[in-house]
Amino acid sequence: MGAMTAAGAGKCETAAEEKPLKYIVQNLERAYGVPENRWAGSDPLDMLVSVILSQATSDTNSRRTFAELKRRYPTWDGVLRARESSVAAAIKAGGLANQKARVIKNLLKEIKARHGSLDLSFVAGMSNEDAARYLSQFRGIGPKTVACTLLFACGKEVFPLDTHIFRVLRRVGLVPAKCSDARAHEMLNRIVPAGKFYSFHVNLIRHGRKICRPREPLCGRCPIVEYCDYGQTRI
Ligand code: SF4
Repeated sequence: MGAMTAAGAGKCETAAEEKPLKYIVQNLERAYGVPENRWAGSDPLDMLVSVILSQATSDTNSRRTFAELKRRYPTWDGVLRARESSVAAAIKAGGLANQKARVIKNLLKEIKARHGSLDLSFVAGMSNEDAARYLSQFRGIGPKTVACTLLFACGKEVFPLDTHIFRVLRRVGLVPAKCSDARAHEMLNRIVPAGKFYSFHVNLIRHGRKICRPREPLCGRCPIVEYCDYGQTRI
């Protein structure tokens, strides 16, 4: 590890150690509830495609788009055989249809070429690290898509990061500004309390949408203000 990386890593860890994550998780659960993972045990390939379709659109739109894709092509083999333009037409309502159709078709082609079938159920039985490494091999599949698939469908304790979560954690002081995304991801995978990965992930997104908004966060109404560096400067 180079000197700069080592220094950055040290800062990430120090910041995390100074925050009582257990209480932050608890306060968020009191405010937003303990979310239930409705996707637990679902097919990892369905989840990968759902996460691809959820990019740059609302949850409602992405659910509708996935349902429409499944309606037109009940099997992934059907999507694999379809023209890219036809897949794009099926998922048009979710935006970025051509780009998403390309990523989905590439993904299906690569899985079929590797395994001869479109079945990723074996991923659930792999270790967190091996599963993440395996899914990251596919073109267009980034760390957030991998982590969401492993957490939601496979129930693995892997923490997905997105823009809402980064914003909240940076304001709180859990992730220093200079901590890289990869380092923050690795650090959170180590420090989020066992059994709380899903709850913390979902509640941070809720919190980022409702209270810790990009502009003018509502620090006066925030359930974790006592632990937040930025919030302490505002109340
Ligand atoms: S105190 Fe303010 S900045 Fe901190 S988490 Fe709450 S809303 Fe966000």
